[in-house]
Amino acid sequence: MDDLRKRAKELIDTSAVKVVIGYEQGTGNKTRALFVENSEVADKLIFDSRCVQNLAAYVTKQEVKSKGKMAITATLPVMRAIIQLASEFQVNDDNLIVIGITPESKIIDFKNLEEVETYVHQFQIEIDARNREILDKLDKMTPSERWKFWIDELSPCFKCYACRAACPMCYCSRCTVDFNRPQWIPVSSNELGNLEWHFMRAMHLTGRCVDCDACANACPLAIPINLLTKKMIEDAKSDFGGYQPSLKGENLLSTFKPDDKENFIQ
Ligand code: SF4
Ligand code: SF4
Repeated sequence: MDDLRKRAKELIDTSAVKVVIGYEQGTGNKTRALFVENSEVADKLIFDSRCVQNLAAYVTKQEVKSKGKMAITATLPVMRAIIQLASEFQVNDDNLIVIGITPESKIIDFKNLEEVETYVHQFQIEIDARNREILDKLDKMTPSERWKFWIDELSPCFKCYACRAACPMCYCSRCTVDFNRPQWIPVSSNELGNLEWHFMRAMHLTGRCVDCDACANACPLAIPINLLTKKMIEDAKSDFGGYQPSLKGENLLSTFKPDDKENFIQ
């Protein structure tokens, strides 16, 4: 923790960055994002196992970008998100410094995003055992059983969009669900509209989701929407040879190979 505060103070005091994004104590036992713009505030920085919010969700926000060059406290899922965002031209070495945090809570200094990418590529996205078990159960269901599972799970959704706000990859200035002329997806909560919203969201995250679980953690109703994106990650792996965020910008949704198993795109 002292190392993190020291590094944040250095970056601010030397004007290397204008703001350091990290975590602070929130209400109750929760943590929340902290935006350090002067070195006294850096003393509020914390890092522990409760810091699961994906801070990369802030680096595309105009309010944060307008402050100037940023530094971000980044665990592995945050680093993955940063590399994906860099491949989509949302961040680069000129506007972002990454302060890496290892699984052992050690600080890593990266010179540039290329070094972050090299670090990230040492680790594959692995679905944890609990979610693996649910995905296996879903795979074994008949299509109608699976349909019922999702109708039941998604029906309570009241479209607060906290999941969207928590996701580093949902950064469009205007989301399809917010359009009302024409209205593609109903804004009210109903069975069909809820399915449309969540299936659209999962589709838009295919090959981009970094499996950070921030969306599911943000949902006030604990709807397991991350199962949809986990399934897409698995399908991308089995059907298209896997996925790793990459600075080369080879996004799954916008590239194809001549030997893809589906031929509609050729
Ligand atoms: S969809 Fe969920 S798990 Fe995937 S990147 Fe967004 S917040 Fe993380
Ligand atoms: S956070 Fe939960 S309730 Fe809110 S829109 Fe997302 S899934 Fe629905």
